[in-house]
Amino acid sequence: MSMDLEVMDRELSTNNVNVTLPPLEMHGLSKRFRQGTTTVVALEHLSMTVEPGEFVAIMGNSGSGKSTLLNLIAGLTRPDEGTVWIDGEEISAMRDPRLTRFRRSKVGLVFQAFNLIPTLSAIDNVRLPVLAGAPQGALAAEDLLRLVGLQHRSAHRPDALSGGEQQRVAIARALISQPAILLADEPTGSLDSVTGQSICRLLKELHRDTRRTVVVVTHEPEVARWADRVVVLRDGRKLAEFPTDALQDAGALASRYRDIVSGVSQKGDAT
Ligand code: ADP
Ligand code: MG
Repeated sequence: MSMDLEVMDRELSTNNVNVTLPPLEMHGLSKRFRQGTTTVVALEHLSMTVEPGEFVAIMGNSGSGKSTLLNLIAGLTRPDEGTVWIDGEEISAMRDPRLTRFRRSKVGLVFQAFNLIPTLSAIDNVRLPVLAGAPQGALAAEDLLRLVGLQHRSAHRPDALSGGEQQRVAIARALISQPAILLADEPTGSLDSVTGQSICRLLKELHRDTRRTVVVVTHEPEVARWADRVVVLRDGRKLAEFPTDALQDAGALASRYRDIVSGVSQKGDAT
């Protein structure tokens, strides 16, 4: 474990209750979107729990509701029905600005498109949430860039960085407030597979060394295999879930996933 991770680990385990590892609970979540004259059901009565310190992958075809679910966990959108609980607090019932404050201190977000500010250097991108009012965690922006292996790139703007480097900056930014939960929506979706695997390795390190809860949305078995457990969505519902420890490799996970989605092994998996 690196020095930085040790600092973060100590903070996470000894700081006040608010930074202990919060379990995530979702009960009966439904979310609909209006598209012209029709209503799209993005999520339907979805319930799931993520244990403290667990690494969960949410898989499903395009349009199955993965991003909607992640946005609800992050408190970026509100459910039409159901509740989201983080650390014993019902965020789905929180009003702004309390929700914003809560989200900033508890949840770090990583997106497929990195979402960096093009005119800012790497280090300023990492600092930005704090400048915008988020709390500063134990590690400063410099420390976080070192943690993700980019200390030598801190003055570079995003367009001078590779995709993998940009995603590392985005991960450092997501950690600036020292959130106990890291949420990533297709974090490797814009990267080649080798770079994608190095991002997965980084997420796994952050998960393992700081016992941080990680939820990754992906449709790639090569990404999901880094998780402890896979939750499969279809048409806004939880179709199945399974632990990854018995699966030998990404190929085994891929065929398990294919069987579930095609309906071959639904029975016994759904919970
Ligand atoms: P996934 O991330 O699994 O691809 P999403 O959660 O993005 O799926 O979307 C689930 C469904 O909800 C899709 O049919 C999508 O078109 C619809 N949807 C998602 N967000 C919106 C939105 N803001 N407005 C209208 N429809 C949306
Ligand atoms: Mg999506």
